[in-house]
Amino acid sequence: MTLSFDPNTISLPIGHFIGGQFVTATGAIDMRRPSDGNAYAGCPVANEAIVDQAVQMAKTALKTSNWGGIRPRERTRIMQRWADLIEAKAETLAKIEALSSTRPVGHLVAGDIAVTAEQIRFFAEFADKEGSDLVPTDDASFGMIVTEPYGVVGAITPWNFPVSMAAWKLGPALAAGNAIVLKPSEMTPFSSIYLAQLAAEAGIPAGLINIVLGDGQITGKAITGHPDIAKVSFTGSTAAGSAIMSNIARTGVKPMTLELGGKSPQLVFADADLQKSAKAIARSILSNAGQACVAASRLIVEASVADEVVTLILNEMRSVRAGPTWDAASQYSPIISERQRDRIDSIVQAAVAAGGECLIGGGPMDGAGYFYAPTLIANVGQTSPAVTEEIFGPVLTMQTFSTDEEALALADHPIYGLAAGLFTRDLSRAIRFSRDIQAGTIWVNRYGRSRDHILPTGGYKRSGIGKDLGRDAYLANRKSKSVLISL
Ligand code: NAD
Repeated sequence: MTLSFDPNTISLPIGHFIGGQFVTATGAIDMRRPSDGNAYAGCPVANEAIVDQAVQMAKTALKTSNWGGIRPRERTRIMQRWADLIEAKAETLAKIEALSSTRPVGHLVAGDIAVTAEQIRFFAEFADKEGSDLVPTDDASFGMIVTEPYGVVGAITPWNFPVSMAAWKLGPALAAGNAIVLKPSEMTPFSSIYLAQLAAEAGIPAGLINIVLGDGQITGKAITGHPDIAKVSFTGSTAAGSAIMSNIARTGVKPMTLELGGKSPQLVFADADLQKSAKAIARSILSNAGQACVAASRLIVEASVADEVVTLILNEMRSVRAGPTWDAASQYSPIISERQRDRIDSIVQAAVAAGGECLIGGGPMDGAGYFYAPTLIANVGQTSPAVTEEIFGPVLTMQTFSTDEEALALADHPIYGLAAGLFTRDLSRAIRFSRDIQAGTIWVNRYGRSRDHILPTGGYKRSGIGKDLGRDAYLANRKSKSVLISL
């Protein structure tokens, strides 16, 4: 059975999901399919009143269901049922997602959605395992640090991996006993609605998950500034993260987790397994056409092996199989929008004008949709726009080094510190560089996340504050209280 489908036959849940009910709404923002550029739907925009309605529903649901106070194992059990349903309905979810997004349907079923179900189970398991602490005091006292849910968490997600990003927010917030109001990206909103419908079907009490559609300026702002939202969890660009911080500062004070942009370096040393390194780097920059926060976008390679590594990467880049996201055979994604494709191209052209040389690609691909050719740019210095800017496309730059000091200096980015890759067989060097590179994640002799969800992800510098995944994400959804009892 093939997963391929006709994009004109998919019915979309165009509306919001509030208080356990799907509420239809008029699509206000024009939406185009990245794979062929055709208009296919409109994204509704929830105003302050609708966001407020969702927040009030969430508050009421927390009270009536006592979600944060029931036996924690019960939260685990219900959430696991939700994960089972996500797996059972993977095809439907994948088709809704593939239609709007850049994710090929085949990758969704085997990858994003399978992992999402696993991550929901992973977070569900924390509910009855992470507890409070008894702390040492003098023997006339009894001291405890207890943790409690925040209440209503507000979440905002980007378009690049919509289902996964929603699960990274919903999973820990719910397992930790909170309700949530989530706004997906206006470019890929419908899969989050369907996820919430599955949650309701699984028995997650109505009103605990509310999905409001809309843009950042109206809906996003209403969420981050809402007085009854106790905590904000955001994934997106550094610019939007900064605007959110400032809105929160203006409207009150609340904790926030910000997962932001990146410009991750890949250091390849001459002693590395070059074939494996090249494959890992190419896979990362080609996966989702480089539209990943941790995309391996800066190759920094020891001069003596640069030609060999580049040849291997070019071979991988030549072999991509581009195709619409609804074709199960497609391996290479389109860019999310025409605007984003033009932005990628303008940075590439600026880099070329500054002396860069495109060894492959360097422009949009022919044919329908917003595909951009895999691109490798050599002859770039640290100030080239292709090296400084988060391009968020299939564009890899190449720089060379001769000493460890040079490699480390090139790896350092003034703004971003999300992830880095190291390819070397020298254990001491791997440990030294893992320590010295300023990034929230270091991968050695591999590039990209595994299915070890216990490893948190998050940025240094302006790549973010706080972590998603891991125990950290669960704990970030609970606040702590110190209790001291005089005996
Ligand atoms: P974006 O910042 O444009 O939008 C992300 C979300 O924020 C959308 O839902 C948008 O509507 C909303 N938004 C925008 N401005 C807002 C505002 N002022 N107030 C409230 N909400 C606002 O990002 P994008 O283009 O959707 O996604 C790409 C970016 O996301 C890249 O920079 C990428 O690196 C980053 N990202 C980071 C991670 C991570 O884990 N660090 C993961 C995925 C994506």
